Amino acid sequence: MSDDHDHHDGNDDHELRVSKIRDGTVIDHVRGGQALNVLAILGIDGTNGEEVSVGMNVPSNRFARKDIVKVEGRELSQDEVDVLSLIAPDATINIVRDYDVVEKHRVERPDVVEGVLSCPNAGCITTGDEPVTSRFSVLEDGVRCSYCETIVRDEIASLIDT
Ligand SMILES: [Zn+2]
Repeated sequence: MSDDHDHHDGNDDHELRVSKIRDGTVIDHVRGGQALNVLAILGIDGTNGEEVSVGMNVPSNRFARKDIVKVEGRELSQDEVDVLSLIAPDATINIVRDYDVVEKHRVERPDVVEGVLSCPNAGCITTGDEPVTSRFSVLEDGVRCSYCETIVRDEIASLIDT
C-alpha cells in the first residue's frame, strides 16, 4: 500500500490540490482557463515576489472545470473584485486570516466600471490627451464604452488599466 495513492473516485478532496494559505484571498470557481487573466487583473506577474498558488482546470462540482487562485498576504479591493467579475462572474472570494475563511462572498457584476478599462477605440474621447475617465456599461456578455459605444466581449482582461 502506497502512502501517496491517488483518489480517483473522491469528490471531497479536490480543494486539497492547491495548498492552504495563511492570510490572503482565495478566488474560487473561476471559469476554467481564466486564472492567468485573474492574475493580470490583480497586477501579479511574479516579479514582486508575491506568493501565489494557481489551480487550473480543477474538476468542480459546479462546473466541469474551474480555476482557483490563492494570493498570500493580500485582500482584494472592491475595484479589483468588480473587474474580476467581468471575466469570472461566478467566482467566490474567500478572505483568509490565520488559515480560517473569515469572509466568503460571490462576486457581483457592477452595472458600470469606471477608470479600470481602456477603450480599444483609438478615436474614443477617453483615449485622447484630455483626461476623461473611462466608463463602461457591463453587459450580459461583455462591456460597452459609454462614450463611443464600442463593445468588447473577448479580451476584456487586455483592456485593464490598473
Ligand atoms: Zn470608447
